[in-house]
Amino acid sequence: MTPTATAERTTADLLLEWDRRRPRSQQTMFGMSELGACRRRAGYRLAGTVPTNSGGSLQAVMGTGIHEAAASALRDLQADGLIPADALIEHEVAFAGILGHLDMYIEPDLTDIKTTSDRWLRKLKVQGPPASHLWQTHGYAAALIAEGRKVKRIIVDYLARDTGEQWRWTGRFDPQHVRDALNWVDEVRATPLDDLARDHQPDSAWCQHCPFRDLCWEGALIGRDPRSVLFVEDPDAAAWARKLADARTRKSQAEADEKEAKGALDALRPNTAGVEVVAVPGFDKALKYTVSFPERLDSTQVRKDYAAAGRPVPTRKSAKGEVKLELVDAGPEVFIPGGEA
Ligand code: SF4
Repeated sequence: MTPTATAERTTADLLLEWDRRRPRSQQTMFGMSELGACRRRAGYRLAGTVPTNSGGSLQAVMGTGIHEAAASALRDLQADGLIPADALIEHEVAFAGILGHLDMYIEPDLTDIKTTSDRWLRKLKVQGPPASHLWQTHGYAAALIAEGRKVKRIIVDYLARDTGEQWRWTGRFDPQHVRDALNWVDEVRATPLDDLARDHQPDSAWCQHCPFRDLCWEGALIGRDPRSVLFVEDPDAAAWARKLADARTRKSQAEADEKEAKGALDALRPNTAGVEVVAVPGFDKALKYTVSFPERLDSTQVRKDYAAAGRPVPTRKSAKGEVKLELVDAGPEVFIPGGEA
């Protein structure tokens, strides 16, 4: 890298470059961290497809930095005799031909570190780890057990990158998670690549940083939503329209159900301000009531103030056209795709 080239690179560019050059980033084999994440991405990996995108993200780089700092501290503690000499730190394992790198194992406990956003952490605290995290950590545990080691507890330390808040999940080893993970891999292997589901949306962080993004969504109509490739692959307009109608019915029913249940449970709310958590006998989650009085922009007053000052309210035109799609009665004047003019 010449001095000029270095000066032109932003810090973000350098961090992504550092990440790309790490041997782990160059691993092209399907790994335990991809279990349960996206069937199509797993299919590309298992088929040995060459990545079309560099992948990686700044959030992932921050996570890698945190992992490296934790591993360095653990190695120092091990060198000082403060954790056992046989503790495994950043250790490679394999189970059923799938490679993984566990963060820490001090018999009989396996610990994994996961960095996340505060928003996602709040969800995790309510719903617990997703299947993909359980399958990944149980994959490590299965590999250790196959080596003749004991695994009693699996610990996942979640750390929010934006707030620094930590939340620890602890569970017992459950072989059912290993069976579920292997069944998932078997299903992916048995499905032709082109038929594998795209498990994430193209505008999600998952797809934005996926090494197969271009390949996965190629075939979409130019100037149209990347998901138009789904129609190209399955041009059954009536089926897609039915799917849209069905989704909207379920959504409105779910919203009505949510309003009804939330209203009924307001009977148990003990607070008129602040936060209170209420246990629900016979249900495995508690109810957390947060009563706040958020300030919202008074758009009516803003418009009045601008009008009084004789100035137009500042607005910004969306760079991308917004598409509204409604289901309406079909009349004789409607456009028929591919029909006669
Ligand atoms: S681009 Fe998205 S849907 Fe496609 S393989 Fe990658 S993660 Fe899956």
